[in-house]
Amino acid sequence: MAWARRIAIIGGGVIGSAVAAFLGEPGAGERVVVIERDPTYRGASSALSASSIRQQFSTPINIAISQYGIAFLREVRGEVGLVEPGYLYLADTAGRSALARQHAVQRRHGAPVALLAAAELARRFPWLATDDLTLGSLGLCGEGWFDGYALLQLFRRRALSAGARYITDEAIGFERKGGHIGAVRLAEGGRLACDVVVNTAGPWAGHVAALAGIELPVKPRRRSIYVVDCRERPSGMPLVIDPSGLWFRPEGAYTICGVPPEDDPDEPPLDCEWERFESVVWPALARRVPAFEAAKLVGGWAGYYDYNTVDQNGIVGPVPGLDNFLLANGFSGHGLQQAPAVGRAGAEWITAGRYETLDLSPLGYDRFAQGRLLREDNVI
Ligand SMILES: Cc1cc2nc3c(=O)[nH]c(=O)nc-3n(C[C@H](O)[C@H](O)[C@H](O)COP(=O)(O)OP(=O)(O)OC[C@H]3O[C@@H](n4cnc5c(N)ncnc54)[C@H](O)[C@@H]3O)c2cc1C
Repeated sequence: MAWARRIAIIGGGVIGSAVAAFLGEPGAGERVVVIERDPTYRGASSALSASSIRQQFSTPINIAISQYGIAFLREVRGEVGLVEPGYLYLADTAGRSALARQHAVQRRHGAPVALLAAAELARRFPWLATDDLTLGSLGLCGEGWFDGYALLQLFRRRALSAGARYITDEAIGFERKGGHIGAVRLAEGGRLACDVVVNTAGPWAGHVAALAGIELPVKPRRRSIYVVDCRERPSGMPLVIDPSGLWFRPEGAYTICGVPPEDDPDEPPLDCEWERFESVVWPALARRVPAFEAAKLVGGWAGYYDYNTVDQNGIVGPVPGLDNFLLANGFSGHGLQQAPAVGRAGAEWITAGRYETLDLSPLGYDRFAQGRLLREDNVI
């Protein structure tokens, strides 16, 4: 039977394209229109991401989403360049008990991680300064990085070949009657009649939700990534998370790195914060890996996190009071790795009216009103 309901997806980044691609599987592809205002994806998170995947979360739902994500990425490994050198979380005295606690949760939920004492860290990673470290948590498999833009394009191709249409336009309003949205109003003057609307507008999802009268705590928050060259870069480097908040990992012949922001304004210009390299990033890098004293800054960029200001986790699913509006937003720095699971879950919710593969109800919007926030300790 042909799929009857018309589905409008607002935002054609990795999340919107993943939903569109998975909608193709039960044959709903031809009824899907993806509204994307900038098909070059210049400012989209999906094109400016560090594109890494880890199992080391502190909540069972995020671990389960990553398990689905890595299984998917392994199936398309050749197309997205997945590598799995692991994540290495480091703890000093202050962070030791939190790391051990998270380790217990991860092991209970099947994440292959190992706790390493300082002496073991020094033995396995001789290039690391371990004098102030008490513990490390190393992902043994299922963690690494990939080409995030290639993943976006893979979903987009699958969506297109299932019959979805991408239109270049901007959603600027909705025709809403009571608890139902009948059409999306477009900047070019048109209207798109629809039976289901999916908000996948990434960092701008709060704005799109507001057009429908919904308060969604998602803001564009800038994160800068620095690219450094180091002639004697140590080999066998995982993605390292330092107690200072610094993270770094290999990227081809280079190393990319970043630190958490000092203040965190909403939607500042998308300019890399170059001045922080010399004052914050480089000292932290050289402190943890002395070989990086010889590192040279060769590039960098900034992108927006789709930042959930309440509990820094995805907000996925329906909105109470609106019967045909679906959210898939707020991933706060872990949206690329969550795209396969969220895309599938979103498609299931639309076509079957429930989650079938993975129950994403802990990510529901209703958690805010019900006071069951989803606190994730490991937000990078
Ligand atoms: C610096 C950085 C590092 C990151 N590192 C990682 C990482 O290591 N691992 C990880 O998993 N995630 C990471 N992330 C997060 C991840 O990239 C995002 O969570 C993910 O890409 C979000 O995808 P999206 O499709 O929701 O948003 P986007 O890719 O931003 O797509 C949203 C799209 O919506 C369009 N749009 C917005 N409003 C409208 C409108 N009104 N009408 C039409 N179109 C509209 C935009 O043009 C955009 O193309 C990182 C992000 C950044 C910025």
